[in-house]
Amino acid sequence: MKNTKRSVTYKIIAGYLLAGLLAVITFWVIYQQLNNYTQITEIKNENNEKLFLIGEAITGLYEAESLNRNIIQTSDITKFDIYKNKIDTILQTINKVSEISDDTLQTHKIDSIKYLIDSKNKNLEELITVYEQRKQKGLYETAIDELKKVNKSFDGYSNYNIRFKKYDPRTRRALINILEYTKKDNAKRLTNQTVDSLATSVKQVLVELEQKDKKYKQEVSVKENELLKNDQIITKQLRDLLAAIDRNERKQYFARLEASNQVLNNTSNIIIVIAGISLLIAILFLFLITKDVSKSQKYRIELEAEKTYTESLLKTRESLINTVTHDLRSPLNTVIGYSDLLERTGLDNKQKHYLKHLKKSSDYILHLVNDLLDLSKLEAGKMVIEKLPFSPKELIENTISSVIPVSDNKNLTIKIITDDQLKKQYLGDPFRIKQVLTNLINNAYKFTDEGSITIDSKISINNASKEQLVVSVKDTGIGITKEQQHYIFEEFSQGDDNTEKRYGGFGLGLAITKKIIKLLNGQIKLESKLGVGSEFIFYIPLKRSSLLVPEEDPEITKIQNFTNKKVLIVDDDPSQLTLTSEVVTLTGLTYDICKNGIEAVSLLQANQYDLVLTDIQMPKMNGFELLEIIKTNPDQSNLPIIALSGRTDTSFLEYQNAGFTASLQKPYAPQELINLIAEVFNVTIANHPHNTPPNSLVNEHYSLSDLMLFAQGDTDSLYAILNTFHQSTIDNINELKVSIKKRNIDHIKTIAHKMIPMFKQIKAKEVVSILEKLEHPSKYHLDTDSILNLTTNGIEKIESLIDKLKAKH
Ligand code: ADP
Repeated sequence: MKNTKRSVTYKIIAGYLLAGLLAVITFWVIYQQLNNYTQITEIKNENNEKLFLIGEAITGLYEAESLNRNIIQTSDITKFDIYKNKIDTILQTINKVSEISDDTLQTHKIDSIKYLIDSKNKNLEELITVYEQRKQKGLYETAIDELKKVNKSFDGYSNYNIRFKKYDPRTRRALINILEYTKKDNAKRLTNQTVDSLATSVKQVLVELEQKDKKYKQEVSVKENELLKNDQIITKQLRDLLAAIDRNERKQYFARLEASNQVLNNTSNIIIVIAGISLLIAILFLFLITKDVSKSQKYRIELEAEKTYTESLLKTRESLINTVTHDLRSPLNTVIGYSDLLERTGLDNKQKHYLKHLKKSSDYILHLVNDLLDLSKLEAGKMVIEKLPFSPKELIENTISSVIPVSDNKNLTIKIITDDQLKKQYLGDPFRIKQVLTNLINNAYKFTDEGSITIDSKISINNASKEQLVVSVKDTGIGITKEQQHYIFEEFSQGDDNTEKRYGGFGLGLAITKKIIKLLNGQIKLESKLGVGSEFIFYIPLKRSSLLVPEEDPEITKIQNFTNKKVLIVDDDPSQLTLTSEVVTLTGLTYDICKNGIEAVSLLQANQYDLVLTDIQMPKMNGFELLEIIKTNPDQSNLPIIALSGRTDTSFLEYQNAGFTASLQKPYAPQELINLIAEVFNVTIANHPHNTPPNSLVNEHYSLSDLMLFAQGDTDSLYAILNTFHQSTIDNINELKVSIKKRNIDHIKTIAHKMIPMFKQIKAKEVVSILEKLEHPSKYHLDTDSILNLTTNGIEKIESLIDKLKAKH
């Protein structure tokens, strides 16, 4: 699909490029053609001008010719000037032709024309001369006429030159001679006879002259004819030459006309060809693009079909998961329920071992089923988000205590840092936040074998200036590689192939966590280094609750002014550790827990505490030894330490002398410890009357009312305490059973001592009396066998009590 889209784009781009190229070529070719055409047209114009001038010259020549003929016919010399002007005009026209002509042959021809015109002019001048000579042909008759008038008018006449001015010199001379002669001899010799003979002579002379003149005239006429002929020849030559040029120019004109037509034809042909090619290219690309578009259309239809199919698959998957998980949950609850019942029956160790596996597997499946259900709900957008008032601090602390087992076999240091602001009431979905926290803390605990887990929480202001809950869960565990960090938030993805084998899990926790956080409009960040540890930080926007929900517990008064004070609780009994932690939580103090003196020493080195609450009888290092170590450290010599012990044989004074600030005997009531802590910190507290515990918590075998005080009336917390108690009791029973086998009376005494406070706390009198005997058998004069029998009896009683308690939650 993507490829088709890209190919369509490429084709469109190629189409545009080709069209552009074609346009450039077309423009270039047409420009060239137009250029050619313009050149041809320019030449054609020149050619036209030349043709016009030549035509003008030829016409002029004809006119000159006719003028010439007219002059010859009329012998009107006055028209010679007009003729001359005409010839000059023709010469000018020919010069113009010469100016615009760049053809050498033509230039030569024009030179010849000029030469011929010149010759013609010369011819004309000669002709004029001839005409002038011919004009004199009437002078002899005039001379004779004059001679006839001689007798009367000749006297006194002297100025012949003026009189005969109009004759040519020869005639003039002859006449003058004659007249001078007649004049001289006029007086004596001139008689009529003489005059007659003179006239006859003159006449004769004149006849001779006339004959000579005739001859001359003939000669002139011959010359004239010759000249005229010559002129005709010149004119003809001129006409021929001009006609040749004219022909040539016409030829060229037609050739150019043809060339320009050719150019026009070529241009139109080129335009037709280019238009044809463009059309072909357009059709080709249209075809290719249509093909691609129809292909992509086909893919789209296929994709839509696939999408519909996938959606139906997802729907089927959702309903399958819902059905399977629902159908699994019911029988699974039955399995778990019956396993619990089975556990309460008298089972041998092997059976208990099998049952343990059965329960573990059932828990595993239940966890998986719950996760699958959540995932399916999240994917289908069916997970409902609530808006309830809650105290984040309480929620975080409860979650931590419910996730991290009190009897931590891994020796991890659990650090809890909570901001005081978290005590306030906020609106949000505590259940989902708890789910997120549980997943993260569970993972931190699962993937950390040594070191610490730090849960740091606060309220901060986000980019939108809104309050947000920020929780960081940091561990010193195996860490996550950069590569793994990219996919561990996806469903069914785990760090590597060995993770499942080594740590269990099914790779859904983080996927669900991320989806829930997204649903809560928050975000999650991860920073991790392989082999160093991981830190998951999540941010969830919260609003302050306007509801007036009491922040203080009505049953237990929290100690005021305890802010920023931190307590270290040391106890080897997980149940006691839980109880003490609950009380410390009630006071609003923060705390760390550890289960022996050695751990306490290292925590004291690493952190700053304001109070230590310690058990006395503990393995490895007892409370007195721990006290001694703390007091020898100058930095901590003033640190208040309260002894919390189940010992009945040590008095208050003994603790005081040893250096303890105060002591409290287990089991104690929460208020007793709170009062003691208030005393140590020198603060006053107001007492509130306690509510009477509900009847359901009290019967002849035990009373949970004290425990309920620790749990602030919260049944969830109570069950959490009971759970820890249950677990630690089973561990203690197992240890007692081993001790029976080994006949280890000392260990039985230790275990009994450890167990007494908790059973006293729940007022299990029967069990407490057995345990007290086991703690101090010498007081009751018991021998080894009696101790062992009493232990077996005690175990039975404890197990039955535990079963009864188990049925409660
Ligand atoms: P799982 O059920 O496997 O714990 P998750 O979705 O909770 O599934 O976690 C996915 C994977 O992320 C785990 O398999 C593990 O490899 C890695 N991971 C999660 N949390 C941690 C942690 N705190 N330290 C190291 N690895 C972790």
